[in-house]
Order: sequence, then C-alpha cells, then structure tokens
Amino acid sequence: MAKPYDLIVVGLGAMGAAALYQARSRGVNVLGIDRFEPPHTLGSSHGDTRITRQAIGEGENYMPFIRRSNNIWRELEAISGRELFIESGGLIISPENAGAGFHVQGDFVELSSAIARKFDIAHELLNADQISERFPMLTPRPQDHGYYEPGAGVLRPERCIATQLDLARQAGAAIHTNERVTGYDARAGGVTVTTDKSSYTADKVILSAGAWIIDLLPETSRAGIRVCRQLIHWFEAEDISAFYPEALPFVIWIGDRLEDFWSTFPVPRDGIRGIKFVTEQYHTSTHPDAIAREVSADESADMYHRLTRPRLKGVRNKLIQADVCMYTVTDDDHFVIDRHPASDRVIIASPCSGHGFKHSAAVGETLVQLALDGGSEFDISAFSLARLAAT
Ligand SMILES: Cc1cc2nc3c(=O)[nH]c(=O)nc-3n(C[C@H](O)[C@H](O)[C@H](O)COP(=O)(O)OP(=O)(O)OC[C@H]3O[C@@H](n4cnc5c(N)ncnc54)[C@H](O)[C@@H]3O)c2cc1C
Repeated sequence: MAKPYDLIVVGLGAMGAAALYQARSRGVNVLGIDRFEPPHTLGSSHGDTRITRQAIGEGENYMPFIRRSNNIWRELEAISGRELFIESGGLIISPENAGAGFHVQGDFVELSSAIARKFDIAHELLNADQISERFPMLTPRPQDHGYYEPGAGVLRPERCIATQLDLARQAGAAIHTNERVTGYDARAGGVTVTTDKSSYTADKVILSAGAWIIDLLPETSRAGIRVCRQLIHWFEAEDISAFYPEALPFVIWIGDRLEDFWSTFPVPRDGIRGIKFVTEQYHTSTHPDAIAREVSADESADMYHRLTRPRLKGVRNKLIQADVCMYTVTDDDHFVIDRHPASDRVIIASPCSGHGFKHSAAVGETLVQLALDGGSEFDISAFSLARLAAT
C-alpha cells in the first residue's frame, strides 16, 4: 500500500486536470489517476475546439464559473506560453420566439441577451439580413435572429488539459495513466481507492470520470444521468482562410426540432484543416464502453446535406475527419457538483450535459474547495445530486 495522499483525483479529463492543477497549486499532496493517457479521444474533451461564451444563457448559476474560468485560462496562457483561448466572437442563431432552446427551454437568443444585459456584456442582436450581411458565408432563414458576442470564442481543449496536467506534474503532483479505478471505500479514517494495478489511501477523493461516472456512483444516484453519443465532422473548405477566427465566429444553430441543433467552429490556424461541425442527439443513450466509435457514411451525409449545405457557403462535400464524443446528460441539462450522499470524503463532478468545458477551469477549483475547505465560494445548490432523484 502506497503512502496516504491528501487527495486523489479519479479521471484527468477537463474537470480532473483542472482539479489536479488547482490542488497542486495549493501545495496539496495529490494523486491523479486516469484509465487512458489524457488528453485522449475516448471521452468528452477532444475535437480541437470548444465554444466559450461570456453570457451563459443556461442560467445565472453559471456566471461565477465562466468569469473565473476565463481568468484562469488567461493565467494559464501567461504561465505556459500556450494559446488556449481564441477570441473569435460567437453567434447564436435561432428562429424568433423559439420554444425549445439549446440546453434550456426558451429562446436561447433572448435568454443569452437577457443575461448579457444584466451582467453588462458587450453584444448585439441581429436579424437574418444583418447576419448574412455581416457574415456572407452564412445563410440564415428569414425567421431567424441572432445574438452576437464579440468576446466569445473557442478554447483548445486538448491543450487546456495537457497544460494543467503538465503544470501539476512539474509542481510535484503524482499522475498515473493507463490505470483504471475499479472502486473506492470511504470510511471514518479516509478513502481507499482501488485500481486494476494497486490501491491507494487519501483523505478525500474527487470523482471526475466523465461518462464513466455512472459506474462509480451508487445505483440510486445514477438515476437521471445518461450518456449520449455525439458526432463531430470536419469538411473541406473551398478557401480555409474564410473560416479563420478573425473571419468567422462560432455559430450555434438552433432549428425547429431537437435534431436541428448544431454548431459551426472557426478554424484555428494550427488546428485540423477543415470546418468543424457538431450535432446533438438525445434520443438514444449508451454506456461509454459499448458506444459505437465509428461514424457511418449515412451520418456524415446527413450532416452535410441536411444541415451544412443549406446554411453555409464555401464548404465542400469532402469529409476530412469524423469523431464520436459523449455527452453525460442530466434530465434538466444542468451539472452535478456535489458530495457523495454517503460520505463527505467523496466529491462528485459530472458537469457535462454538453456545455461543461468552458466552465471546467473553475469547476476544478470548486471541486478542490469542496474537498479541502468543506464548501465552495460559489452557490452550487442548483447542481446537487439529490435533485436528480427528485425529478
Ligand atoms: C461533441 C462535443 C462537443 C462539445 N462542445 C462543447 C462546447 O463547445 N463548449 C463547452 O463548454 N462544452 C462542450 N462540450 C462538453 C464538454 O466537452 C464536457 O462537458 C467536458 O469535456 C467533460 O469533461 P469531463 O472531465 O467530465 O470528462 P472527460 O474529459 O471525458 O474526462 C473523464 C476522464 O475520466 C477518465 N476515467 C473514466 N473512468 C475512469 C476510471 N474508472 N479510472 C480512471 N480514469 C477514468 C477518462 O479516461 C477521462 O480521461 C462538448 C462535448 C462533446 C462530446
């Protein structure tokens, strides 16, 4: 049995890498364990870019997280010399008076602009003509309107994770990769974490296992958490420079039905050389070990013909890359950041629901505060595990 740690972080993706970095920054004797070699392409944090916005239309509860995360990304950039956040601007397009929104009920354009007004965030509201005038490669429908936020942009997820892990390691954190946690046992004296290779003891443990969190929670707490397979496509551009961040913001497209929600991403100069599209589906759920990892030709054809071609000019029907990714979703589309129902020594983070990356730097800090200080400086009552059982 190895010597006891102050803290063990299980899973070193977006949330776990942030927690490890924050814990080690506080001088804590911390061990991070991952079943793979992060950053990797088997969880929820790959694909070159992730949207980040300043006005969080999903709700005011997220505002402290986004503000703190944006500060942390810039701090990490200054320390590491790596570019993590590209301020490309961001555009949300939806039909006026839409009922069903993106991650929420309601018109996401209206919800975002209400938050932007309240928190004094620079933004503009555009009608369909103004959108196509400003961004000639976009073809919105006449009934569409848009929320444009110049301070929004894209994060580089693999680089954010690698940077936090590198800095934590350099500062003395222990990191074990290709080691799978198989269980944990929290008692009065501490927590024992068992892996497929060994076992370790610690005062506290953070469970940030992404989609695999469902295997680590008690049966009763799993209710209301599902894993949904999602697709990422990159298609060839006629002129790639027309899609560089200074020419095109990210676009969240909200259609009339659930399957008409998708996003377009600006192309980082040193990123994958294609235009990236992400779709969402919530009809079927799966287990991360059983997920279909291949993207079929029919799925790529649907992406191009149904969504891309009618709305975006300058994209060729030539697939460059297609990846599978996972949303870990709750019934109300909000995060889980809480203590384990049976032990205060175990902190649970399943903050995905398709919109977690942008907040991950601050979520990691919050997880560490919960573990080490017994509470968070932010109000996390909306992210309780108990609410899932109640819905
Ligand atoms: C296609 C797609 C697009 C998205 N777009 C956006 C976006 O634009 N903006 C945004 O903010 N969010 C977005 N999200 C959501 C965001 O990416 C996720 O919320 C976030 O990446 C989840 O991070 P995580 O740490 O919970 O999971 P992960 O990053 O998957 O990390 C979990 C880690 O735990 C490890 N692990 C699992 N089980 C074990 C075990 N038993 N033992 C040891 N290690 C284990 C895994 O190997 C993995 O490394 C998107 C998600 C997807 C899938």
